[in-house]
This record gives sequence, structure tokens and C-alpha cells, in this order.
Amino acid sequence: MSEFENYLLTEESKTFFTCKACNRKTELLFPEKVNIFACQCGKIHCEHDYKGYYYTGNQFANKGLLKLGQQANLDGEIWEIVGIANKFNTKLAFDRWIEYVMFNKKTEKFSFLNCAYGNYTWLFERERFKDLDSKKSEKPRILEVDGEVYKLYQRYSYRSNSIIGQFPYDPIQSKDINCADFVSPPNAISIEENVKTNEFSYFQGRHFYRKEIASVFKDDRIVYQSREGVGMAQPFYGKIDVGNFSRIGIGFILLLLLLNFGIFNQFHHSKEITSFSVTSSTETRSSDEFVTQSFVLKEQVVPHYLNVYCGTFLNNEWLEAAITLVNEKTGDERELGLVLEHYSGDGWEEGSNANDIGISEVPAGKYHFKLKIYSDSVSDKSISFIISEENPSNWNFWLIGFIALGIILLMTFVKQQFERMRSGEIDTLFG
Ligand SMILES: [Zn+2]
Repeated sequence: MSEFENYLLTEESKTFFTCKACNRKTELLFPEKVNIFACQCGKIHCEHDYKGYYYTGNQFANKGLLKLGQQANLDGEIWEIVGIANKFNTKLAFDRWIEYVMFNKKTEKFSFLNCAYGNYTWLFERERFKDLDSKKSEKPRILEVDGEVYKLYQRYSYRSNSIIGQFPYDPIQSKDINCADFVSPPNAISIEENVKTNEFSYFQGRHFYRKEIASVFKDDRIVYQSREGVGMAQPFYGKIDVGNFSRIGIGFILLLLLLNFGIFNQFHHSKEITSFSVTSSTETRSSDEFVTQSFVLKEQVVPHYLNVYCGTFLNNEWLEAAITLVNEKTGDERELGLVLEHYSGDGWEEGSNANDIGISEVPAGKYHFKLKIYSDSVSDKSISFIISEENPSNWNFWLIGFIALGIILLMTFVKQQFERMRSGEIDTLFG
């Protein structure tokens, strides 16, 4: 810090630094720990020789929303932005983020608030992980910390485009630093290894939503900051555990199936609503209209499905029943026709003495049938009708099962897309 010492000035227990390039006087908040000081004029001051290595302070104007000196109140602790670095991943140049170096004057601790495309992760220095020491050389993919399993998110190294303010470390000499991020949303762990000195630094923190950052900084602009993709440690919507949800959902569907095939199957048979028979005589056939007794279909979740069965005895004859279902309240009529024919001879047979037809989507209400029989056959006929319906509870079970399955599939898909967004593979949920 030889260069620093020449320009340091102590007044009332505060230490100031005067930039030799612009004569600006800046208070150094942690003079003992400052590694690099980048003046707002663009001049870098540090013990290393960064000759001609200038970073213009104006470069920051349009990047992050937060500025040097802004303070955040996080759980009663005051953190101040003392340094800002624009960094990028050396392997993926489009993977950029802004690092805000936060300093707590009271505890003299540092934390690092990272903003990548409007997604915030706040990391705090912490002591080394004991378990990890034995695995240093292994490059683990999974960390278990305080009973929580963290998965490897990425390994990378970074460079700084531009820096401003005071740094407790050197953000320019970064080529010897290897970083690894582990996530267990919303929590994150970052480990930095200096391959030259074989020193490790450990950081632990979590994802912060924009509205949380806006709240701790009392800066509403953050709420409306543009955002892309998904944060490194951003939890899935509503913090739902999709795995658990799917397991419970599939258990629920299996239970439905069991109930359906086991207990409820005995009620599955179609339920008779009404039955009647008519006698159609040769003389009156063309003019007779039969009107049946009324019957009531109760309110239920899905519309009723009726089955009309018609049976008689035919001897080389045919007949047609014109059936009209009449809603007594609305007067709505639904017409359908049933044809029965049966012919037989020596060793052959064709057609049938019975037939049936379905009527779907019948709303609840009071109904009766109107019937007309047509035939050119000569004999008088007694024709019986049975009106029945499928057990509706069966339908409801299937409906609930299908909805549950649909929700599981949709959530699994969305979760998958969410993880692809986190990895940067896609930009939008349905992209
Ligand atoms: Zn300056």
C-alpha cells in the first residue's frame, strides 16, 4: 500500500484518500483492508502496477441501478455499497453480472450482492465448510451443508470489465481464481479458490426478489427493473416442491383407481330410471303417439348420459321407434330413432330383436318421452323400453383423476422449463 500511504489523510478518526489524478477526496471506510481503490474519475489506485489501466466511472451510469454509497437495512444490519464491479464469465461472455461490494461498518464485515439480468443473489462471507476440506481436490457436484443438499450450478472464472469504489480484494487479478456455485433454491453457496495460493473463500446466501432488494434499499426503482431468465438460486413458483407434489398426486390417482375398481365398481352398472311397454296395433299404428310417465334427473357435476333400450319379438319383420325426449320445463325436444329388424330362415339369421341408443349431455330436469312406432309388418307388437343411465359417480372419479394427472404433467413441464431457464438454455418459459 505504498502508493496509498502517500495520499492518506486522517481527520477526526476518519481516513481520506486524495486522488492524484483528479484531487477528489474520498473517505476510505476500511483503510486497513482496501486492496484496490477505483476513483470516480477512472484512476485505479493500488499496490499493483496497473499502468494505463483506466476504468471510466461513467461506464457504470447505465448498468446497475444501485450506486456507490447507497445503504441497505437487512434485518437491522446496515450495509453500504462501497464498490461495484462489472464481471463476466470467461467461458460465456454473455453471462454478465454486477457485483456490489457491501460493507457493514459496525461489524466490519463484507457481503456481495450480485445482480445478473435483474436477478439478485446476496452472498455473505462465512467460515470454511469442514466437510469440504477433505474433498478439496475432488471438485464435488453436491455439498451437504447444515443438513441441506446443494447441487453444483456452475464452475467458472471471471474477468472484470470495469470497477469503481473500494475493494477488499483485487477484482482485476482474477485469472488465478476458480469459482464454483452450488444451489439449493432459494439458498446458494459460492466457493472461490485461488489456485496460486491454494486459499479458499466461502460465501453463503440466497436469492432475493426485486421487491425485497427495493425494500431493503428503500429504492422503488428496483421493483420495475427489467429482468431476464431465472436467478441462479431462484425458487420455483410459490416454492412448490414439484417432486413431492407429483408423488402425492399420483398416490391420489392410484387411490381413486382402487376405489373405482374396488368399492365403487359394484355400483358401476347402469341404473334403471324408468321402463314401460307399448302395444302397437296394426290399425292404429300410423296415428298412435305414446306419452310416458314423467321422470326426474337430479343435479350433478357432469350432464346425464341416458341409454334407451328397446326390445320386442320380431318374425321376419322390422319396426322403427321414433323417440322424443321432452324437457317439461323448457319444452326442449331431442329426437332419435331406433330401428329393429330380425330375419331368419333355414340355418341363417340376421338382425336382432333388441337395440339401444345413447343420449348424451342431458341436463338435470323433469322429462318424459313421446313415442311413435312405424312398421309395414302386419302383426300387433308389444314393445318394451328401458331407460337407464351410467353411474355418474364413475364419471366424477375419472374427471378428478384426469384433472390431477393434467396438473402434475403441466407442473412437471413448467418446472423443467424453469430449470432450463436457470441454466440459460432458454429465455422464456415456453421458449
Ligand atoms: Zn480521481
